[in-house]
Amino acid sequence: MVRHLKTKSDTTTGGVSSTSSSVAATVKDVIDTIRSRGDAAVREYSQKFDKWSPSSFKLSQSQIDAAIAACPKQIIDDIKAVQTNVRNFAQAQRESIRDFEVETQPGVFLGQKNVPISSVGAYIPGGRYPLLASAHMTILTAKVAGVQHVIGCTPPIAGQIPNGTVAAMALAGADEIFILGGVQAVAAMAVGTETIRKVDFIAGPGNAFVAEGKRQLFGEVGIDLFAGPTEILIVADDAADPFTVATDLLSQAEHGPDSPAVLITTSERVGHESMALVDELPKNLPTAALARTSWKDFGEVVVVDSLDEAWKLADEYAFEHVQIFTRRPREALEKMRNYGALFLGEKTCVSYGDKVIGTNHVLPTRKAARYTGGLWVGKFLRTVTYQEVTSESSSAELGRLCGRAARAENFEGHARSGDLRAHKYLNDEYGW
Ligand code: NAD
Repeated sequence: MVRHLKTKSDTTTGGVSSTSSSVAATVKDVIDTIRSRGDAAVREYSQKFDKWSPSSFKLSQSQIDAAIAACPKQIIDDIKAVQTNVRNFAQAQRESIRDFEVETQPGVFLGQKNVPISSVGAYIPGGRYPLLASAHMTILTAKVAGVQHVIGCTPPIAGQIPNGTVAAMALAGADEIFILGGVQAVAAMAVGTETIRKVDFIAGPGNAFVAEGKRQLFGEVGIDLFAGPTEILIVADDAADPFTVATDLLSQAEHGPDSPAVLITTSERVGHESMALVDELPKNLPTAALARTSWKDFGEVVVVDSLDEAWKLADEYAFEHVQIFTRRPREALEKMRNYGALFLGEKTCVSYGDKVIGTNHVLPTRKAARYTGGLWVGKFLRTVTYQEVTSESSSAELGRLCGRAARAENFEGHARSGDLRAHKYLNDEYGW
């Protein structure tokens, strides 16, 4: 049986702002205007939403060098350390993807190749926090995949160039860096302007405007996935430590006012104690206001009778991040199907995944985990196929089959391509 100790007060699904229809209208307007008026419209929206209108949105090499020089050495060292972790995992992923060719019949060769996308626009969020880590996750991963040209866009923070983010973007291998935020950045990269080159694919997380922009532009460009406002779900049994549970719930609730945080537990005690601590802990948190709003509107605590019930319910939530605080955390690998990333046991946490450990933090939200995993090297590759037939008799046999199969669908033109080869290589009567 499922019992709520705390329900969310916002009735929309997690992470979807109640103003999402107005978000969609704003986004459509921005895209349409940038499509028709290019750079001039980009500048107007940047000024409107970010109070940002520099002489050039694109950073010069000397501005990039200055941003790196302005960062304390420890920050640069840490960026490099994290990028090593991200690169190692991404390279292992790349090696797991293979090209192959198989001979399915004598002289019939079918093959598959994985070809990198040529140009990618990476959006690095930064409205509220400088998300350095998103630079590693998007730009570096695209580069490991072999993408030739990667443009990075990130917003200014309080009217300034975010030096740490720029350093992370440059060290990740960005070919061009623009200080430009929100849907105006996504739209400019997708449709192209006088100064911003049109890309084939947009990757990266962002707020509701960015996520909606990607949704509306999909088709015209490829997109990685819907990686909107972050979500955390914790599955805990009676062995879980409520202080750790509460700390980790708050770690994601601070992202923004619409970041769902949910605890599903088999222990009513753990539920009550964790809830009390979530109310108490923000006293010392500089981001308390955001975390409290998120928790009030989107926080939930649910008690279930068994772990089997917990796995089932967690799958229904299909959350971006799922932490497992149970006696046998690896059980979740067998029992759960819908999640962006799993964090097994209390020695790791979503913050490790977000910032340092090396798995990608761009992950599906709003139940997109039902049909996609997160960003990875494979998202920047196109799996293409090819074929060659070197045997005349195999080609003729395929020609006969093709003639019959195509005529069953009333495709006479297709059928004749088959007939032609059956005639050429096995002297069949030709159907023209
Ligand atoms: P952001 O860079 O995504 O958005 C900031 C931009 O939004 C601003 O530059 C501005 O142009 C635009 N904007 C703000 N208010 C607007 C308005 N009223 N109308 C039009 N445009 C407006 O940065 P953020 O806001 O800090 O959000 C980052 C988001 O990224 C958070 O929600 C976080 O949870 C999410 N995130 C998700 C993942 C994931 O993988 N799912 C990973 C990291 C971060």
